[in-house]
Amino acid sequence: MAQQDFSRIFVGGIWRPGGGPLELSINPADGSVVAEFGTASVADVEEAVAAGKRAANDPAWRGMTPQARARLLYRIGDAIESDADAIAALQTADTGKTLAETRALAMSAAGTFRYIAALLETMDEALTSPRGNCLTMSLHEPIGVVGAITPWNSPIASDAQKIAPALAAGNAVVLKPAEWTSLVSLRLAAIIERVGLPSGLLSVLPGAGAVIGDAIVRHRDVGKISFTGGTVTGRHIAAAAAAKLMPVSLELGGKSPTIVLPDADIDQAIAGILFGVFSSTGQSCIAGSRLFVPAPIFSEFVGKLTARAAALRIGPGTDPSTQVAPMVAFPHRDKVAGHVAAGIAEGAEILCGGALLADTRYAAGAYYPPTILTGVTNDANICQQEIFGPVLVALPYGDEDDLVAQANDSVYGLACGLWTRDYRTAYRLARRIDAGTVWINTYKQFSISTPFGGVKDSGLGREKGRDAIRNYMQQKSLYWGLDPQPLPWASGI
Ligand code: NAD
Repeated sequence: MAQQDFSRIFVGGIWRPGGGPLELSINPADGSVVAEFGTASVADVEEAVAAGKRAANDPAWRGMTPQARARLLYRIGDAIESDADAIAALQTADTGKTLAETRALAMSAAGTFRYIAALLETMDEALTSPRGNCLTMSLHEPIGVVGAITPWNSPIASDAQKIAPALAAGNAVVLKPAEWTSLVSLRLAAIIERVGLPSGLLSVLPGAGAVIGDAIVRHRDVGKISFTGGTVTGRHIAAAAAAKLMPVSLELGGKSPTIVLPDADIDQAIAGILFGVFSSTGQSCIAGSRLFVPAPIFSEFVGKLTARAAALRIGPGTDPSTQVAPMVAFPHRDKVAGHVAAGIAEGAEILCGGALLADTRYAAGAYYPPTILTGVTNDANICQQEIFGPVLVALPYGDEDDLVAQANDSVYGLACGLWTRDYRTAYRLARRIDAGTVWINTYKQFSISTPFGGVKDSGLGREKGRDAIRNYMQQKSLYWGLDPQPLPWASGI
C-alpha cells in the first residue's frame, strides 16, 4: 500500500483533516518524529455517528446476507495480511515494539477477521419450544452504532477484536484509538476502505480520551461501547453507560499471579515467567507480575530467574535479536520508574534492574530494564497496583491455602499462570484462583476461538470465541399465531 497522509482522519467514510489539533507520533526508540497526525473534534464525533447511523440503517447493509458480509471480512483479513510488513514497520516506529511482535499483531488481526467471517457464516437462529399454538423464535439484530475505544499496547489486534465482530453483526463502528498509537488504526481504516466496506460504516477518530472518547460514550445514537483500557477509565465509562442504559464490555487492567508449584519443571517455569512478564516490555494487561514461589525453594528459584532476567537483550524493536524493546513513550517509562521508586520506599529490595540504563546506546530511547523486586508482602502497593512495565515482584508462600489467599488478594482478576507437573493440583488451583484466563505450563498464549476477559476490577463481559458476534447484537423474539380462530378471551363481545 502507498504511503499514507496521517494528517487526514476517517470521518463517516471521508478522509479529511479533523477538527482537532495536529499531534506528533514519537518513536520511543530514539525520540524522532514518526509522523504528524490529525485528531477529531466533538463535531467530528457528531458527523461520524450520524454517518454510521445512516449506513447501519441502509437496507443494502442491513439486508446483506451473512455470507456476503463474511466475504467482505475475509477480504479485509487477506488485505491486512498482504500489508503485514508495512503495518509492522509502522507500529514498531510508533510503539517501540519488536518487529516480531508487531508482525504477529498484524497477523492476529488478519486471523480475527477470518475467524469472525467463518463464525458469521455458521451462525444459526433458534426456534424456541412453544407453550401454546404458536411458532416461537429468537432472532438477533444489530445494535446500530457501536463505539470502540482501544489502548496503545496492542493496537491493531485490539482494534480488530472490536471492529470485526461489530461489523459482522451488522453495525457501524466509530473507533477511538489511543493517543500514542493512532497511526496504525488510521492505516487499518485505509485497508478496510480499499477492500470496499460501504461508506460510513467505519470512522477512526484519534483524539483525547476525555474529550473524543467521552463524546462517543455519551452520544445518544451510540448503542454500545466496547472498551479496552485501564480500570479507572472503564469505571468512568460504565457510569456514563448506566445513565444511558447502554450495554458496555470492559477489558481492563490486571496484576496477575504466576505460580510455581513445588514439582514444577524449573526450566520451563523460568522461561514462561520471563516471557509472561518481560515480553512486550511488560506492557501487557495479562503480564504475570506477581510471582509466587514455595518458601523452601524461593531463594534458589528466584536467584536463577534473576540471572536470566538480567541477561535479556535490550535494544530497539528493529534489531531482530532484541527481547526487551523500549517502552511506548517517555512519560510512561517515567511512570514505571516512579512505581519502582515508590516500591523501594516501601521496603522492596531490587534483585535486578530498577534504574535507568547507564549505557549511552540507550540514552535517546524510552528504555527501562527488566526489574525484579522482593522483600515486601502482597499487601504492598507495588504488589497491588498495575505498573504496566517490565516489573516483577517475587513473593514466597507456605501451603496451598496461603497461596490462594495471597493470589486472590487483589482487586484484579484477569489471568494466572500455574507451573506444575501435577494435573490434579493444576485443575484444583485453576478453579480456585480469581481469573478470567488460567495458563497451565504456558503463558500469554491466545486464540481468537477462546473467550477472553476478566473478573473483579479486570472487566465485564468477554471478547473472542463463538459468542463474539452475539455480543454486538440485541435479541428479538417472534411469536407466530397458528390458530385460525380469534383469541378466546375477547369472544362473545
Ligand atoms: P486508558 O484507560 O488510559 O486509555 C484507553 C483508551 O480510553 C484510550 O483510547 C483513551 O484515549 C481512552 N479514554 C481515556 N479516558 C477516556 C474517557 N474519559 N472516556 C472515554 N475514553 C477514554 O488505558 P491505556 O493507558 O491506553 O492502556 C493501558 C491499560 O489498558 C492498562 O490498564 C491495561 O491493563 C489495559 N488493557 C487491558 C486489556 C484487556 O484486554 N483486559 C488489554 C490491553 C490493555
